[in-house]
Amino acid sequence: MATTAAPIQLENSVTEFLGKPRKMLIGGKWVEAASGKTFDTINAATGEVLARVAEGDREDIDRAVQAARRAFEQGPWPETPPSERARLLWRLSDLVDQHREELAQLETLDNGKPLFFSRIVDVPTVIEVFRYMAGWATKVEGNTIPISMPGAKYFAYTLREPVGVAGQIIPWNFPLIMAAWKLAPALAVGCTVVLKPAEQTPLTALRLGELIQEAGFPDGVVNIVPGYGETAGAALAAHPGVDKVAFTGSTEVGKLIATAATGNLKKVSLELGGKSPNVVFADADLDSAIPGSANAIFFNQGQICTAGSRLFVHKSIFDKVVDGVAEQTKHFTVGPGIDPATNLGPLVSKEQLDRVCGYLESGAREGAKAVVGGRKIGGTGYFVEPTVLVDVKPQMKVVREEIFGPVVTAIPFSDPDEVMTFANDTVYGLASAIWTRDLSKAHRMAAKLRAGTVWINCYNVFDPALPFGGYKQSGWGREMGHAALELYTETKSVCAQL
Ligand code: ADP
Repeated sequence: MATTAAPIQLENSVTEFLGKPRKMLIGGKWVEAASGKTFDTINAATGEVLARVAEGDREDIDRAVQAARRAFEQGPWPETPPSERARLLWRLSDLVDQHREELAQLETLDNGKPLFFSRIVDVPTVIEVFRYMAGWATKVEGNTIPISMPGAKYFAYTLREPVGVAGQIIPWNFPLIMAAWKLAPALAVGCTVVLKPAEQTPLTALRLGELIQEAGFPDGVVNIVPGYGETAGAALAAHPGVDKVAFTGSTEVGKLIATAATGNLKKVSLELGGKSPNVVFADADLDSAIPGSANAIFFNQGQICTAGSRLFVHKSIFDKVVDGVAEQTKHFTVGPGIDPATNLGPLVSKEQLDRVCGYLESGAREGAKAVVGGRKIGGTGYFVEPTVLVDVKPQMKVVREEIFGPVVTAIPFSDPDEVMTFANDTVYGLASAIWTRDLSKAHRMAAKLRAGTVWINCYNVFDPALPFGGYKQSGWGREMGHAALELYTETKSVCAQL
């Protein structure tokens, strides 16, 4: 592992954005919190304050929900034709494209992730998601339904209508992508939104809010309220004026959201944690399976809900694959994300660093051995070594719980039935992967895996057209693709006697 410290010159627009306290977007205006309170967002690479942000709470959420409700029921939005919603989304994607370097830099400073990835993954994904969902705006259709009731003739059809005001609560690991995943389908079908970014990373969502205004979305259609989960987030999840809540984050908080939503039985979709199995069979092409397995766990410093955190390797190639994955870590350049040479950045926060280190200590205490890594990296910022653990047992915390850091447990297996039992032995069911040259085995295994996504000979391949979500405690509902429209629409049956 090499280390770097040669940050680039920031864009002027980034310096200006960080130079002023950031407000919240309610009803088309940038306003202070009702309480006047602010909180600091921190540079993950240095631990220093990056910017001061208005701290939303219950009263601000209430103002934002009222603005979203007004925009849903009155004003230009309900009269905006689908083709115009499509044009607005496309215009927004163009604006993100025009500001791609600025957004990439802001994302990296706030989250810590390497600028290299913000440039080639985060910002381009956001552009594609808005473009893809722009295409759906004009294609939200109902059906005509044949009616069999005797005695009369009927004409019946269904309408797909926007569910109403959507409350959207997003995490810190892909702040801008998560904002796009949530906003794009909701706006495509005609909902209005109150978005609450994560307290660790509010900046790109707030900058996106300015671009949303510039694109021409009517006031109140998108409201953005930064603030803490237990206050602003909880108020949004419980608010009686919200028709639907969409959440991405931990399973623990997902359960709180589902409970809070019962007050008015708002619709709920949840994209939660994972402990994804990554299975390497003896016949795999190791030239791709080894780097692929390393990327499966180390991409975004392991701070991704699909992280391939349980590596199962056939016993005949176990040492070779484990040593190969460990060897891959030597190619990482660790440093502040804002240095373009960095490809492994810091974790997002001190809290996250302590959490990951807690798991490393627990693994060591319970007898796991680190083939590589196993410690935090000293100095400033929240850096931890990429880590491969062996000699692990099924009941260890490092095997059962989501670490959300660059830590993988490697476990040998002897036959396909055994490894499918291991793979499915988790409360989660978000993602999984299989590496093999035997296609029929791959598809047999794909059918057996209890997970919302199965990758075959690849990992972390996402597409705006591909439904994404979890089995078991990894969530409710599917985002992306056609499936995302179902999260934000109601079906109305209309039946007329002729
Ligand atoms: P993590 O544990 O990885 O920080 P969380 O699930 O706590 O992830 O956070 C994801 C999002 O959920 C953030 O926007 C956070 O503010 C919000 N959040 C946290 N706690 C609550 C809560 N009790 N109610 C609503 N939202 C919450």
